[in-house]
Amino acid sequence: MINNPIYLDHIINIKNLVDDTKCYEVVRKLRWPDGKVQCPHCGSSHVIRHGHDDTEPERQRYNCKKCNRYFDDLSCTIFEGHHQPLRVWILCLYFMGLNLSNRQIAQELDLNKDDVQQMTENLRGDVTVKKPVPKLEGEAEIDEVYIVAGHKGNPEAVKKKGREGRRNRLKGARGRGTLEKEKPPVLGLIQRGGDVALTMLENVKQETIAPIIQKTIVVGNTIVYTDEYSIYDRLPEWGYEHKSVCHAKGEYARDEDGDGFCEVHVNTIEGFWSLLRSWLRPHRGISQEKLPSYLGFFEFVHNIRRRGKALLASLLNLLVN
Ligand SMILES: [Zn+2]
Repeated sequence: MINNPIYLDHIINIKNLVDDTKCYEVVRKLRWPDGKVQCPHCGSSHVIRHGHDDTEPERQRYNCKKCNRYFDDLSCTIFEGHHQPLRVWILCLYFMGLNLSNRQIAQELDLNKDDVQQMTENLRGDVTVKKPVPKLEGEAEIDEVYIVAGHKGNPEAVKKKGREGRRNRLKGARGRGTLEKEKPPVLGLIQRGGDVALTMLENVKQETIAPIIQKTIVVGNTIVYTDEYSIYDRLPEWGYEHKSVCHAKGEYARDEDGDGFCEVHVNTIEGFWSLLRSWLRPHRGISQEKLPSYLGFFEFVHNIRRRGKALLASLLNLLVN
């Protein structure tokens, strides 16, 4: 019996190997590290325990003595109000950190693919909203790529977020700035040896990229390296020292200060683009509406510099606080 491969396929259900009690302990430890439970509504620590959740006995309920409202371990987090138990959410997040596709996660957790898609969308979206805004300084590089991401039969959802009609977007576009059909541009800002910041762009115009650059890269004492694309011409006006390599002339790195190191290049961001490409590969058919949350999630993963269970802890910590 035990050697029957079909029997072995179904012998383990990962969901049932994970302990709910431990999951709630971890959430409480991350949410209230000093053990002092705080009311998510008014911030008061004048809180008493108030029984447990009806369906999840490990989920502690509380009553705030200041504002007299009731809450529990998951209130005001992305995990509240869903029918899947907390352990399923945590496992899902762990698999997302390992970059499994929705289909693979559904398989590992014995869940329906649509349920998993909904869960990963919620988690990715919340990580994107809550992730810290990177601050870059010293030596930074800027570059842009085009990522295939269609409207997937839902163009309204994309337009609603302030996107102009396609005809308008294409008008006046030229050269490399042309927004190809279903290939939105993504702007990447990276500090050499540091963090990255990713933004999906409406278009590649100076007035579009200026505010993104100015809120991310510290002015003064920062050298910004780009290629020769004209949208980067006004970097000195925006307060940055700017050096560019001319890819069109076959130049990829240049030693300008004569110390033997070719410091003028954009190899760091180009190396990052291949990481991003590999990261996105398992996820087929990402729509333009969803692309920003995939970018936000990977930006967080990259910048936190942790993998596996350490990454899971960082992700959970971000989501419950
Ligand atoms: Zn309160």
